[in-house]
Amino acid sequence: SPAVVVDRVSKIYPTGARALDDVSVTVARGTFVAVLGPPGAGKSTLVHCAAGLDAPTSGSTRVDGVEIGALSEIRRAELRRLRVGFLFAAHNLMPAMSVADNITLPLRLAGTAPDHDWVRALAERVGLAGRLAHRPVELSGVEQWRVALARAVVARPAVVFADEPTGALHPREAGAAVGLLREVVDGLGQAVVLATRDAAVAAPADRVLLMAGGRVADTVEAPTTAAEL
Ligand code: ADP
Ligand code: ADP
Repeated sequence: SPAVVVDRVSKIYPTGARALDDVSVTVARGTFVAVLGPPGAGKSTLVHCAAGLDAPTSGSTRVDGVEIGALSEIRRAELRRLRVGFLFAAHNLMPAMSVADNITLPLRLAGTAPDHDWVRALAERVGLAGRLAHRPVELSGVEQWRVALARAVVARPAVVFADEPTGALHPREAGAAVGLLREVVDGLGQAVVLATRDAAVAAPADRVLLMAGGRVADTVEAPTTAAEL
């Protein structure tokens, strides 16, 4: 089964705002898909509905072969913990916990014992090898972002959902950050669904969905530069 299937999803908020209008997207395993568009286009709503963080008004979504709408809230929470990784602009690291404990939090919340070799290997991959015992406050903004990245992939989910993931970084740091995300998920065979308004952040994707007014207006396959978008 594909990593993510969004099938004819519409979302109308209680305010009457039509955020998504009959959107269908299929994300193959190991594929990096970016959703690019101006503020209000519906990018964030699409990522939230696809990830099971929000319920569509109509249509259905599947993650890793599981139909999200058919799950109880408890099963949905389990799915979010183990089959899905998240990366948001606000990384919400736990200030009192070490880098290692922040990275392994999803595993521990799911009742799984973290494997120290794996955590060390992952920390090395994201450039945090010497930082595992530090607290987040001792790290630079980019290093904190790498902790959030490691936390998003540590449970080896089939897919990472990212909503404006570089939003808290300086624009000149965003390109390298998403390049690292790309490298890490490629190494682990994970898919990504990433929403952004920044063409430089979308450009490393295998496929870019251009969103406007709650619809996918166009699709660009494997862009080579941000200028193409
Ligand atoms: P984007 O991520 O592209 O900026 P959003 O998905 O956040 O777009 O928003 C799409 C539309 O839905 C906008 O018109 C926005 O105002 C509206 N919207 C988003 N979230 C809510 C909400 N919680 N309640 C009501 N309207 C919302
Ligand atoms: P690569 O893709 O570079 O071959 P992997 O991503 O498969 O490496 O894993 C790197 C190391 O971490 C391997 O030793 C692997 O056994 C271990 N590892 C991977 N995932 C987990 C996990 N969820 N729990 C424990 N160890 C893991």
